[in-house]
Amino acid sequence: MRFNKTKAAAVATGLGLALSLAACGEAGSSDSAGGDYEVVENAADNFDDGTRMKELAESGEITIGVKFDQPGIGFKGAADDVPVGFDPEIGKILAASLGIPADDITWKETISDNREPFLQSGEVDLVIASYSITDERRAIVGQAGPYYVTGQQLMVPADSDIDSLDDVEGTEVCSVTGSTSLENIEAEGATPRGFDTYSECVDQVLNGTVDAMTTDGAILLGYVAENPDELKVVVDPFSEERYGVGYSLDRPEMCQWISDTITEAMDNGDWETAFEATLGESGVDTPEPPALDPCE
Ligand code: GLU
Repeated sequence: MRFNKTKAAAVATGLGLALSLAACGEAGSSDSAGGDYEVVENAADNFDDGTRMKELAESGEITIGVKFDQPGIGFKGAADDVPVGFDPEIGKILAASLGIPADDITWKETISDNREPFLQSGEVDLVIASYSITDERRAIVGQAGPYYVTGQQLMVPADSDIDSLDDVEGTEVCSVTGSTSLENIEAEGATPRGFDTYSECVDQVLNGTVDAMTTDGAILLGYVAENPDELKVVVDPFSEERYGVGYSLDRPEMCQWISDTITEAMDNGDWETAFEATLGESGVDTPEPPALDPCE
């Protein structure tokens, strides 16, 4: 279901933490979040012939890869029709600028390890999936942004003694294959345990198989909001994760369109609406929007 801005703003600003956490517990519901972004009419006229944007606008269809198991960022419960979260909201904003309404977006689940292959094979047009911009990734795919900046932290059982990064030496810490998080924690002396998805990793922490989980703070807060009595986030962020929108390097013209559209959303309030209705509901403070990198 799509909400109008007034309703989304009321949901975002009018409720206290307790209700926010309750709402987050229902993160699977497609009713739980979202903005209603202005869908541009005759959008194809705004793009040059031969550009991917024109092709997409003329076709009226776009396929976007998002996470399905990260509350607040990209989440789709088994009974839901569509994913919800800040990343799908960014996807809806981009699609709207092509004249494509949210209902006509095809959402495809991406896990951390298949984001580059999905872009390279054309399986998806965009990846918007807690996808940190890195030099290694930018060598093989395009990444426009950042549209959000977070940092890596640790999540442990509520009764854990781990409360500093020094404490992870010799412990087993899970994260996800193909993520920046797994590489970073290995460098801190922990024994890394890699899984395909973050939800599998959370289960390992909850059942005591591993000592901690590590990834971006924004992702961890979503899981803590769902299990506030069992889990807690510890240590200050020890990396900078700048989330970008992935696109194929075969279509470099997409960078400027993505950057311009996100910049406009930051200026006209759509970005803030999107944030407050999704990650804001997980208890993450709404930050100042980051400055975007120039496109080459
Ligand atoms: N943002 C980090 C990354 O892109 C970790 C989160 C994730 O795996 O999606 O690797």
